[in-house]
Amino acid sequence: MATFQEAVEVRDSRQDYLDSIDLDGTRIKGLKYIPEQAYRGKDPVVARVVSLSSPVLIFSEAFSRRRHKSEDEFDSTVIDHEGFHIAQRLGNSALESRLAHPPFDAELICRLEVEAYQNQLSNPYGRVLSAEFIRKLKISLGLYQTLLGL
Ligand SMILES: [Zn+2]
Repeated sequence: MATFQEAVEVRDSRQDYLDSIDLDGTRIKGLKYIPEQAYRGKDPVVARVVSLSSPVLIFSEAFSRRRHKSEDEFDSTVIDHEGFHIAQRLGNSALESRLAHPPFDAELICRLEVEAYQNQLSNPYGRVLSAEFIRKLKISLGLYQTLLGL
């Protein structure tokens, strides 16, 4: 079983590490390591929920030091943000169908992001988060709130 530190340093250990994360109490079906970088615009993608029944994709950016300085910060993104997105969608078939087919509703997506960042910032599991990490979360939250005109 690989530790977070090993997963940061040794790419080949990352799936082992992801498999060791306790997902009990979350709605996440599993975690799958994607060794490539993916981008949304200029921003590297950290993780992506593809569907409610498939594993959450975890991109190599998630193991970058500039993104997560600790296992607690990693878990904050994976469980408190991505896991929250799954919880938002579960049992909400109207929401699911709006997200499944274009044209995508930008306002709806922004609202889902605001809720996920607010959940992450509420730190429901009392994780140890650095001031820098919290600052970045607040910047992301603020961007989505600005887009919504809040
Ligand atoms: Zn999100």
